[in-house]
Amino acid sequence: MKQVVILAGGMGSRLKEMLGDLPKPMLKIGGKSLLEHQVILAKKYGFKKILLLTSFNSHYITNFFGDGSRWDILIEYQRETLPLGTAGAVIDAWDMLDKQFIVMYGDTMVNVDLNRLVAAHADRQADLTLLLHPNDHPYDSDLVELDSSGWIKALYPYPHLDGVWLPNLTNAALYVMNKDILLPWKNTKIKADFAKNIFPLLVSQRRKIYGYKSPEYIKDVGTPKRYKEVTHAYNVGRIARDSFSVPKPAVFIDRDGTLVDEVNLISHPEQLRLIDNHVASDIRRINNSDYYAIVITNQPVVSRGDCTFEELKVIHNKLETLLGQEGAYLDHIYFCPHHTDKGFLGEVPELKFNCDCRKPNIGMILLAAREFNIDLSKSWMVGNSSVDIETARRAGIKAILVKTGHGGKDARYICQADKEFSSLSESVEFILTCHEPI
Ligand SMILES: [Zn+2]
Repeated sequence: MKQVVILAGGMGSRLKEMLGDLPKPMLKIGGKSLLEHQVILAKKYGFKKILLLTSFNSHYITNFFGDGSRWDILIEYQRETLPLGTAGAVIDAWDMLDKQFIVMYGDTMVNVDLNRLVAAHADRQADLTLLLHPNDHPYDSDLVELDSSGWIKALYPYPHLDGVWLPNLTNAALYVMNKDILLPWKNTKIKADFAKNIFPLLVSQRRKIYGYKSPEYIKDVGTPKRYKEVTHAYNVGRIARDSFSVPKPAVFIDRDGTLVDEVNLISHPEQLRLIDNHVASDIRRINNSDYYAIVITNQPVVSRGDCTFEELKVIHNKLETLLGQEGAYLDHIYFCPHHTDKGFLGEVPELKFNCDCRKPNIGMILLAAREFNIDLSKSWMVGNSSVDIETARRAGIKAILVKTGHGGKDARYICQADKEFSSLSESVEFILTCHEPI
């Protein structure tokens, strides 16, 4: 894949004070415009050409970027004369589109490993891949649901129905697209947005749309408040670090008795409650740090037949919703559905085996390390049982035992945690303020 298509027509009326007459993609972060950051990113990942779809005061963009030779990349332009919306603008540039291309929005600050994204699209042989991430306000966001293989199966526009537990997963506005998927609209001058009009239709037609989950840095800079946040993130080096190309540490967190109430084998969303009032703010503190917040949990309820994969997903959606209501999110929830003990009524025989993911085995940690490029040497495990501590020991990561739930009294493994605290709050406080390895 060689081409990046950038929607660069935005006016930026809410940023008028900073922009003056300039179009929104010319807004500067750290001395360079959003658009220049994107051009540099495309070049870094080996793209050969960029198509800029311009509109408002486009001469500022063409004058600055020219043919792209200053960045050693070919820059082409298509100027929109009628406002056609995001999809309409791309379709209108039909003859200039490659067979496959990336779509970026010119008002976003992006640091995403584009090669990894493109490889995922190719591996899956998808027609379209959307970069998805959890955010800190899922309650007023359009949400996306994936099937167990990662294909998008439903879109839920805001507002959401009460009492329906949805995942905290949103469209981050970065796509890999096969041109063919837009064929129905070729030569139509259609006025349409990708998110509002085109994607819901394609999902309803069950097209191969892959949901690529990524916690990498991508944020739209549409308001003065967001501009301040993004500028701050840039100045402290956060944007540079928030890419899959840079290894980062994680806080691995056990679920039952650590994050949520210890109920023996939760099999229904009603049974799930956050363990205390601090949990969401603890997770939010991790979200605002350089650590990923990742849940690692054994859930033999599935193999026992107490609940299905679908029902467990709804339980986890509730967890994500409760955290999301307070501005916190988990980067991922890994669970092991297996178990070896047989003889339960309604059990699922194919899940009854000795797997390598059930804690204290470290399959989930190794998978997370691969999927998130995690630096295990700087990571922590926080859990309330000796199983968690033994898992950490086997994975070579530092362990904190919390005294909530069963509070380490399970005595299944003889092992010593690096630290013991009374709650997740104290553990997070320690991890985020402790700079010296033990
Ligand atoms: Zn397993």
